[in-house]
Amino acid sequence: MDTIMRDPFSYLRQLEGLTVNDGIYDFLPHWQKDSALHKFIRFIADEILMDDTDGPTRVPFGSDPLYPDWILPVDAAMLQYGIIDEPLFFIPDESAPERTPGGGSDSSESGDPYCVVNACYDYLLNLRWTQAYEDLMSRITDEVFYVMFLNRRALANLNQFLARYAGEVTTDGFDADEASLMNLFVRDGELKRVRPPMWARRAVFYRDRGRCTTCGTDLSGLIDTLNVGNYDHMMPLARGGLNDVTNLQLLCENCNSKKYDKVEDPSNRYRRWY
Ligand SMILES: [Zn+2]
Repeated sequence: MDTIMRDPFSYLRQLEGLTVNDGIYDFLPHWQKDSALHKFIRFIADEILMDDTDGPTRVPFGSDPLYPDWILPVDAAMLQYGIIDEPLFFIPDESAPERTPGGGSDSSESGDPYCVVNACYDYLLNLRWTQAYEDLMSRITDEVFYVMFLNRRALANLNQFLARYAGEVTTDGFDADEASLMNLFVRDGELKRVRPPMWARRAVFYRDRGRCTTCGTDLSGLIDTLNVGNYDHMMPLARGGLNDVTNLQLLCENCNSKKYDKVEDPSNRYRRWY
């Protein structure tokens, strides 16, 4: 996830499903608690699990180390999280395909080298509609978000990537049922400025530990009550940036006015924990 977020442009092909065919529209409404990063993580996790069916990637299961049963990583993950108690699917044994006695008309199927891959793929396709899979996705998303939200550089890259698509949205491209999206824009490709809600400000304030991320000025009001904090859009709205909690950083007034509408790499100053 980290690798992809640092340089999403190298993964354009794999990320197409997220952005083409109006996929970007999901990202436009302001201050969704299901943030851009949540959506991104879910998309990548789903892609990775789908990729595992090809091959397929096998995880041993069972008490016999010599002759384990084989399961897919998705089942291993659900077991690990305690979402299921038993594997839902065992990977069929490729080396011993079920042969119809006498080599009947079914032989074409048993000899099909893709039959194992197809079985794995079908299993996952059906699984994706279940509550168990939904639970798995939300566990993975929460866990990865917890780690990645601290990494402003990665977040800035993600928002820069998404801004490229949001900045190209033209309001005349909306269908009648997408009319509500129209009100989000000041002009084509530029979302309205909407003040971040309390939960978003709190999250960013505590992540950035009450200090300007560029110069380190204390903005908590404990040391100097005159210092005012600004919630800066790392990717400016004017450049297609989103009103999203992952696009915010804490800046002092001075640094914020210097930055204005520029796109700058966020500071890589991270305060020590101790
Ligand atoms: Zn500053």
